[in-house]
Amino acid sequence: MQKEKLIIIGSGPAGLTAAVYSARADLKPLVFEGETPGGQLMGTTEIENWPGAQEGLMGPQLMNQMREQAKRFGARTEFKKIEKVDFSDAKNLKLWSGDEEYRAEAVIIATGASARWLKLGKGEEKYWGKGYTACATCDGAFYRDKVVAVVGGGDSACEEAHFLTRFASKVYQIYRGPKEKMRASKPMQKRVFEHEKIEMIFNKNVTDLRGEEKLQSVELTDSETNETSELKIDGLFMAIGHNPNTGIFEGQLDLHENRYLEVTDNTKSRVPSVFIAGDCADWRYRQAVTAAGYGCMAALDTEKYLESLKD
Ligand code: NDP
Repeated sequence: MQKEKLIIIGSGPAGLTAAVYSARADLKPLVFEGETPGGQLMGTTEIENWPGAQEGLMGPQLMNQMREQAKRFGARTEFKKIEKVDFSDAKNLKLWSGDEEYRAEAVIIATGASARWLKLGKGEEKYWGKGYTACATCDGAFYRDKVVAVVGGGDSACEEAHFLTRFASKVYQIYRGPKEKMRASKPMQKRVFEHEKIEMIFNKNVTDLRGEEKLQSVELTDSETNETSELKIDGLFMAIGHNPNTGIFEGQLDLHENRYLEVTDNTKSRVPSVFIAGDCADWRYRQAVTAAGYGCMAALDTEKYLESLKD
């Protein structure tokens, strides 16, 4: 059993920013990098909206730099996944990775969320970052004067479709159900229905991705008739929701109905020694820079908490 002052679960912008701050405060954090070291940005290409990166930088590059920066101040990282936690004793938090047990005085949870993909089982990965993406804010600007499609009928899909009209010459929004079943709020629906660049496609599922090096078209299958058709596009943006990575906290912390973690007072959980940062609690902004901001706040709050134990 290994005893630590602070354990950080997750290594995206939230977890690694928390690591930089808490390491600089001499808390010697141990970061569990989890299944996707570096988090969602590892699957992106160029990031143009990271403040200060005037010429843009690559997602993996940013995350590697963040990790090295945290290590420079004394953070340690493990390429392991925390699979079980027991937070019943706030002064003695227990965590497990496989059979290995860890104890901590404080924990920062930054486990993030995972975008939902189509799960076509037909080499989707081939086009990942080559026309197939889940983030219009990140990648939209690469599709200037191109034809793109957004999949989904929720607020995110409508927002992304609308955002993409700034760049693309044409935006299809593909929804698997009929118009009446769209989950997006009415004002959001109105925005896309009335936009001259957006064309809605109802009752269709994307059932195949096609192209040589890059994505060039998709196969659509009608939800009712099963008839198939081909749609030529340069980019496909998935907006069919995210799944927060919060399964191991069920029964230990409070979760919203949508399974995101409940937070009070910016970073606090119901356990006074457990703090929360980033996309695992945020279904609204979901940006690298906001996650990093939450990571900073969680580290500062953790520092204050650990300091209060000395009183
Ligand atoms: P939602 O869960 O609201 O919508 C997901 C959409 O994806 C639905 O249209 C759903 O279809 C579709 N979908 C799910 N799985 C598949 C699949 N396998 N194949 C094809 N389509 C699929 O997610 P959002 O990300 O849009 O929104 C999440 C939350 O965030 C909501 O509460 C939303 O209101 C909020 N939000 C608010 C915004 C704002 O206010 N500005 C902006 C963005 C999000 P179906 O309906 O048939 O299940």
